[in-house]
Formats: sequence, structure tokens, C-alpha cells
Amino acid sequence: MENKTIKFYITTTLPYANASPHAGHAMEFFQADAYARYFRKKLGKENVFFNVGVDEHGLKVFTTARESGTTPGNYLDELVPKWMNFCAKFKIGFDSFYRTSSKQHHITAQAIWKLCDDQGDIYLKHYEGLYCVGCEAFLLERDLVDGKCPDHDKAPIVYSEENYFFRLKAYSKAIIEHIHHTPDFLKPESKKQELLNFLKDMEDISISRNRANLPWGVEVPGDPDHTLYVWFDALSNYIGVPGFPEEMDRFRTWWPGIQLCGPDNLRFQGAMWQGMLASLGLPFTKHLLVHGTILGPDGQKMSKTLGNVIAPLEQYDQFGSDGVRFYMLGVLQTYLNCSYREEDLKSAYNTHLANNYGNLVNRVIHLANQKSINISDASSIENDFINKIDAMKQKAEAAYEAFELHDAVSLVNDMVAFGNRYFQEKEPWKQDQPDAEKTLNNTSYLIQTASELYEPVIPEGAKKAMECLKKQEKTILFPRIG
Ligand SMILES: [Zn+2]
Repeated sequence: MENKTIKFYITTTLPYANASPHAGHAMEFFQADAYARYFRKKLGKENVFFNVGVDEHGLKVFTTARESGTTPGNYLDELVPKWMNFCAKFKIGFDSFYRTSSKQHHITAQAIWKLCDDQGDIYLKHYEGLYCVGCEAFLLERDLVDGKCPDHDKAPIVYSEENYFFRLKAYSKAIIEHIHHTPDFLKPESKKQELLNFLKDMEDISISRNRANLPWGVEVPGDPDHTLYVWFDALSNYIGVPGFPEEMDRFRTWWPGIQLCGPDNLRFQGAMWQGMLASLGLPFTKHLLVHGTILGPDGQKMSKTLGNVIAPLEQYDQFGSDGVRFYMLGVLQTYLNCSYREEDLKSAYNTHLANNYGNLVNRVIHLANQKSINISDASSIENDFINKIDAMKQKAEAAYEAFELHDAVSLVNDMVAFGNRYFQEKEPWKQDQPDAEKTLNNTSYLIQTASELYEPVIPEGAKKAMECLKKQEKTILFPRIG
């Protein structure tokens, strides 16, 4: 195994394509993009694969399309470009944008179904239950509040159908053991108990719907009266993208991969999906990273009724890609529920990007030009200084590699703050300052290092800073927000 190149495969959840991206999606896509960018630099472009996409099936999409007076196909043709636009604006550098309505996905999902069936893990049974379309899941009486799903404030549909079931219960023990033996399987630690509790009482799950009720989706192989349950369908994309089951050599170089999801996805990705992998005889997911919920500025769950919804694309118009990404990745906690407050965004942006980072870049370039000093002169950088900066860099890298983005950004902020203090103390602007050349080249080395470490989070500004440094050309990198 020693010669095997390390490959890094990361994927977001495929959000339902029944609305435009919300703040939670933004958090997930930004995080995944930041890790992909970091590891591309570390491992080489060819050794990183980053998947995003949309889930185009399920009752939710079908119903929303029907309510809009159109077909799911037409509805998605209008909505999917909005997601592509979101990715383009926020510089989400994916390698694959997966659509579950694609022909290839239908083939993959059906193949996975057949393989689980071959294992004897799928059976037919009459089932009655309460189904929440918002959740795309069955609920129990005890989950309801006043007869309604508490997350969606809607009464569930009463289902009475012949459904196919997946023998998830048969794999619960194996998944529980894996969680106990693999401390870094699930992040954050606080989610572990929640998942274990769920797995302890886990039942087999329904994985099909009658086609008469849900004609939109993947057909159950060999039984055209049934549609695949949207989760069974969508989850299969994680292994379908890197080549399962048709290109096993390619697939084995990428899997197991890293999955990101929100807290309401934990049981699907942490339990159901792991059971499917076990049934297929495949390794469990390498890391499951569960980010927090993004709350409104008032600390409440965002809702149209409360009027506290933050729309990422509107934030983009106000603060740009770097402004929003810096706030969400570097200020909000990576794994905790957080309130999104524009005043916090502005203050963090002005403090760290405008006043600290952008200002330092300009001061160094300005002074170097004034004194005709070349600041790309490696021989003028002091070894002690390099060692100091490299030690800081290693800490930030370790945070990235531990999937602690907030910590990584804080460490880079600290490095830049140190640079400002150093520059101030050395006073290289003074007349006949013999150390000016060293000071400027030391600081330039610091800026280059910090920019490389910032790049996964603020790709636009960091790249521009590196260019300016190289050309010794002044520019306003991060204009202050009023
Ligand atoms: Zn619900």
C-alpha cells in the first residue's frame, strides 16, 4: 500500500431541487469546496475529486412542480441553472455536478438495488405509516406535535401501501461497532450519541413507493409498479460518481470518500447509507462531517413567517463571494448551530480582510516600490523568520486536515496579525533603515504563505494578493464595507 497515491474524494449532500440554495446549503458547499481546494494544493489536482449536485426526485420535487402548474422536467430545467449560478458566483470548483435525473444515474441506482436484492436484503411487505413530504421520511406518532411534523408544520400523509423494504436492522450492529472503533468516522463528536441511539432502535426501512402515487423517479428493477424511495435513489450517487459498479478499478482508487451533510441528514447518511454500503460489501464512508444549522439573525430557525431568512445570492450581491465565504467558514463555527448576522460579517471582513490582510499587502508593496526593493528575493528572507512562519503554517495545515475550518482560518488571521505587528516594530519606512530589505522580504514571505492558506476560503482575494505581490502592484484587495 505504501506506493499508493493518496486520493481525496469529497461530496456534498445532493439538496432537493425544489427551491434555490439556502444558507445551510451555502455552508455545506463552501466547506466542501474549501477542503477540495486545500487538498488539491497538497496532493495535486489529479488526486482530488469533488462532487456536488442536486436531488431531482422524490415527492417534494414532484409536488412542488405540480403546484407550479408544470412538469417535473420543465420545473427542473428552470431551477437547476439557479444552482449552477450559485456555484459559479461563489467559486464552487466542483469536478462533477451530479443530477439524479440523468440516464446514467438511473442505471447506477437500479444496479445498486439489484446488488442489495441479490444479497437477500430487499423484501416486499404491506406497510402503513405517516409520511412527511418535507422530510421525505416516515414519522411515528411520537414525532408529531399537534398531529403535525414539527420541522415542517404540516400534517403527514397517511400511507397504506405494499412497499419494498431494506434489511437495515441486519447491519445496525456492524455500523455501531464501526462507530465505536473509528473515532474519526463522524464529526462532531456530539453527534455520535444521537446516531448510536438511532441505530440501537433501528428498524428495516421502506425503500419504494407505489408508482401510482409517485410516478417521478427511478423505477424499481423488475417491478414497474414501484418507484425507488428518493433516499435509496440519491445516496447511490456517492459511489456512482467514482465509478461503481461499472468501473471498479477507478472506483477503488476513490472510495471510501468524505461526505458532508446537515444535522437533519444524519440518520440517512450515518445509518441507512452505511447499511447499503455494508450490503454491497463496500467500506463505510471515511468521514461524515455534519455541519450545524444556520439560524436567522434573531437566533431562530430561518422561516418565511418570521421573516429572518438569509438568502446566499442576496448576500453575494452585497458582500461578494469572499465576504460571504470568509464569514461563514472563518467566523461561524464549523460544526455548531450559528446565527447569521450581517453586522458580524461586516466587522470580521473589515477587521481581518480590509484592515489586516489587504492593508499589509499594500503597505509592503508600496514601500518596496518607493525604495526600489525586490520583494521576491528569497535570499533576503531570514531563516529564523521562515522557521517561525512555517511553524504557524503547519498548525493551520493540521487544522485543515482535521476538518476544523474555523480553526484553520483563525490561525491564518493570527499569522497576518503577527505580520502587521512585525512590520510596525521594524519601521522599514524610516530613512537609512539598513534592515528594510530583509523586513520587506520577510513580510512578503509571510503574505505569500498566508495567501496560500487563505486561498481555500477566499479564493478570489487570495489569488489576487499573490499576483499583486509578484508584480509589486498596489491594488485595493478588500474595500472596506460601510
Ligand atoms: Zn417534516
